[in-house]
Amino acid sequence: MSSPTHVTFWGVRGSTPCDGHQFDRYGGNTSCVQLTAEGHDPIVFDLGTGLRNYGEQLAREDALEGFHAHVLLTHLHWDHIQGLPFFAPLAAGGGTVEVYGPEQAEGPLGDVFDGVMSPPYFPITYRQMHGTASFQGVSSDDFALNGAKVRTRWVRHTDPTLGFRVEIEGVSVAYLSDHGPGTVPDDPDDYVPPDVLELCDGVDLLIHDAQHTAPEYEMKRDWGHCTIEYAIHVAREAGARELALFHHCPSHGDDRVDEIVRDARDLVARLGGPEVFAAADGMRRPVTSRAAADA
Ligand SMILES: [Zn+2]
Ligand SMILES: [Zn+2]
Repeated sequence: MSSPTHVTFWGVRGSTPCDGHQFDRYGGNTSCVQLTAEGHDPIVFDLGTGLRNYGEQLAREDALEGFHAHVLLTHLHWDHIQGLPFFAPLAAGGGTVEVYGPEQAEGPLGDVFDGVMSPPYFPITYRQMHGTASFQGVSSDDFALNGAKVRTRWVRHTDPTLGFRVEIEGVSVAYLSDHGPGTVPDDPDDYVPPDVLELCDGVDLLIHDAQHTAPEYEMKRDWGHCTIEYAIHVAREAGARELALFHHCPSHGDDRVDEIVRDARDLVARLGGPEVFAAADGMRRPVTSRAAADA
């Protein structure tokens, strides 16, 4: 029996939005994933440019007024926040978005967010939008949210960055969009920190950074991302059931991503799991529990 809980990938690209025919199939929008479970408001991972298409869909469904979502924001890099001003429930409708993101040493998360969304960088602040956005700084924590169990942990990246685990309606999803071993040079390449294992432990779907091939990683060790092999390693160490390769490098067109998926599937076939696929803009995918999948 399949679960009605599902994810929709609205943006899967890393670093910067991309345009061109070479991105037709996997897409060029930056990080944004919607998690929907029946009877719950949606949970949204990150506010990249993919968020705009999510808002367009809500507008088509006439669902802007009264829209309410919780956002789990990994960090403040541009590719994870640029969709917010263009999200229809906030830009044009009377929606409400509660953002939970990494607490900042410089001050409250909303005030720090103002640093990038205010003149002269953008004509208005989030407080001047039609809808209501609020920001709540969080650290390593476990809390209840809208009928879900949420776990937040710090993960290795270039600036303070959270990874998330959400358990809802009997299924679990972990989201580590920007994550790599190279930013802590003393850590061996295959080391998986306990915090990451706590996020990914036995999860039904792991959405993980997969920005680099191994040769690319050698050139960009300190960029805070990882190889496809490392993403598979994390999934296997944690016993994740299904792995979504995510945060595709802007230099990887569709054909390159196809090759990466082929190589990844060859590797997991030799290792004995997990299932692996590449996330793509617009992809909607059910999240099923292990028990349901085995039935
Ligand atoms: Zn990113
Ligand atoms: Zn980043």
